Amino acid sequence: APRIGVLALQGAFVEHANALGQLGARVSEVRQVAQLSDDLDGLVIPGGESTTMAIVARTLNMVEPLQAFVRSGRPVFGTCAGLIFLSDRATGQKIGGQSVLGGLDVTTHRNFFGSQIESAERPVELCGALAPGKGKGKAIVAVPFRHAFIRAPAVIHAGDGVQVLATLAADPREQALLEEQHQKGGLHAGDATRVIVGVQQGSLLATAFHPELTEDLGWHEHFLRMVSEHAASKQREGSASKRK
Ligand code: GLN
Repeated sequence: APRIGVLALQGAFVEHANALGQLGARVSEVRQVAQLSDDLDGLVIPGGESTTMAIVARTLNMVEPLQAFVRSGRPVFGTCAGLIFLSDRATGQKIGGQSVLGGLDVTTHRNFFGSQIESAERPVELCGALAPGKGKGKAIVAVPFRHAFIRAPAVIHAGDGVQVLATLAADPREQALLEEQHQKGGLHAGDATRVIVGVQQGSLLATAFHPELTEDLGWHEHFLRMVSEHAASKQREGSASKRK
């Protein structure tokens, strides 16, 4: 079974550990640099509060080791604040000089869905590799599935190498926000009717919502598939170099 680290500095890490455990992964909580070890096959960065998470990570000298993990090619799954943490660019609310890890070529808008409605379940549509009928292995249970958005961010621009995996229908306020961004020249595909809430770029997977808080484990399954594919390709590399 793969060994997955869950960053446990702050936020909703227990629920991720439970979801991964249900799917048969061995899970360890990562609270300090030494726990970010070589035998981890993947890492989850949970939701919470990205400013706090960044401050704690910096205090514990974990920013660079986390960036090295992201660069190592082992899969990383960021949810909500974890998405912000993985984004190359973050806007919206003042970031307050927080250090994000980066790695994911997206611009993320913090608290995109407004802070007055602090929490809502919204139907999410899957696209790209996760579009219905395209997924490998077990399909994601219900399409569209209502996922939990809690003071959630949104991806307002995705670079060319980024695959959009999930969107939702924008309401009028959200459309206006997206159009404003479009005028600034920053909107993916120029479509202001859909909000991007799930993306993948190589080994990095990220969602604006909290897939660990609802019963559909499809996103964790997808992440574990990324992990086993990465481990298998590493093994092929290893045996190829032994044969030389
Ligand atoms: N609004 C939070 C932030 O900016 C994210 C919320 C969440 O992770 N549920 O970090």
